[in-house]
Amino acid sequence: MKKGLTLLLCILVWISTLAMDGSIARAASNVFKDIPSNHRAYKEISYLAQGKIVSGDTKGYFKPKNNVTRAEFAAMLGRALGFDGTKQKTSFRDVGAGNFASGYIQQATKQKIISGYPDGTFRPNGLITRGEVATMICRAFGYSTNNTSAGSAKALVSLGISSETTANFGTASRATREASAVFIVRAINYTYRTKQHISFSSQRIVKVDSLNIRTGPSTLYNKVGTLKNNEKVSLGYRVGSWALIKGSSGVIGFVHESYLSSSSETVAPPANNTGNTSLSSQTIVIDPGHGGTDPGAVGFGLKEKDVVLDTGKRLKSLFSKTPFNIKMTRETDVFVTLQGRVAFAKNAKANTFISIHTNAGGGTGSETYYYGKAANPNVTASMKLAQFIQARLTSALSTTNRGEKHGDLHVLRENTMPAVLVELAFIDTKADNAKLASPSYRQKAAQAIYYGTLDYYKYKGFNVAKYY
Ligand SMILES: [Zn+2]
Repeated sequence: MKKGLTLLLCILVWISTLAMDGSIARAASNVFKDIPSNHRAYKEISYLAQGKIVSGDTKGYFKPKNNVTRAEFAAMLGRALGFDGTKQKTSFRDVGAGNFASGYIQQATKQKIISGYPDGTFRPNGLITRGEVATMICRAFGYSTNNTSAGSAKALVSLGISSETTANFGTASRATREASAVFIVRAINYTYRTKQHISFSSQRIVKVDSLNIRTGPSTLYNKVGTLKNNEKVSLGYRVGSWALIKGSSGVIGFVHESYLSSSSETVAPPANNTGNTSLSSQTIVIDPGHGGTDPGAVGFGLKEKDVVLDTGKRLKSLFSKTPFNIKMTRETDVFVTLQGRVAFAKNAKANTFISIHTNAGGGTGSETYYYGKAANPNVTASMKLAQFIQARLTSALSTTNRGEKHGDLHVLRENTMPAVLVELAFIDTKADNAKLASPSYRQKAAQAIYYGTLDYYKYKGFNVAKYY
């Protein structure tokens, strides 16, 4: 069970300005019957159509003047961010798993892009207002606002995403499909904005042999160049898991961020990280959640705090035959605050932080969280660690793979090293609970986290082969 969810306020810093070169503005020739090439949003709508972010009706019409429902906009935004749109249960009582946008709505909820109404509804069929559009775009792209729709409108105007005045974002004004498309395309691709000053401020290194640069944030977009292994690039901003980068040749476009170094690894590629000496320099903090007066989630008489402590101790014991330096935030049934856990890891100068929890809420399966927002320099490393652990865990426990995902959780957000939070399984779901209650499954879980961590260190270039 997770705690400490708070809203993140991203701050965009404009360090330098750079003129556009127009190379990523090219739109495809996808046309809708009612969007002729002289339509004022022809280029924008075609660009989104190429990425399958918008589509027309079965007869090939886009219907630019139609209003947009809240569900339709969530789906549009979710596709822009590359969310997996698989339909699923949502947090809202009026959005069932059968709703066409349920997957996008749930992912956007998890990432704090949408929050719904105080009565627990999302009102998916309500027509979205321009103010709501502005708020959702700002949250999705991490623009600085004061958490009001007026502040969001101001952000869009100042970034050149809207060319209107903020007065046009009143609560009663509905967003058309055409206007929604223009806002989204400008958020994705700065060359469509009315102001095209982008700062490419932080450095990254390409980590694969040949990395395609594309005109948009998905493989559906055209290739405009290729980057070589170890080539340096500068990061502009992110669209979901994709990054707008500028290569050393000056080419600008989108690449998937998982193929770039995290900012903390830009200087030294991990070539010399071999042998036991360097493994012994690595401190891993194991963080069993809850404890003492805080039982965590409880299901069928089983307490989360006990399951995760036992699993954490098993994990420590597995690491005892390696040179890694292992520390635990708690080794007994005591309560530790979230702040205390983070302080512990920082004091230990931890290189890796692994928090262990069990899930609750009636679902099933395993999932692993990492902090995926731009403000954190360890996003890529944390994501890789989450991927490796998640793959091992679902295979070892034969649980449903709920994926690795961004979570705005205190122990992930506030830590200063790659950090993940593993939700082993659902303690309040019978089949999952039976596994959590079983010592042999807890051993399997510990082994899975152990192997996943070795996989991660192997990926980082460490020699861990003999510890499998
Ligand atoms: Zn928990």
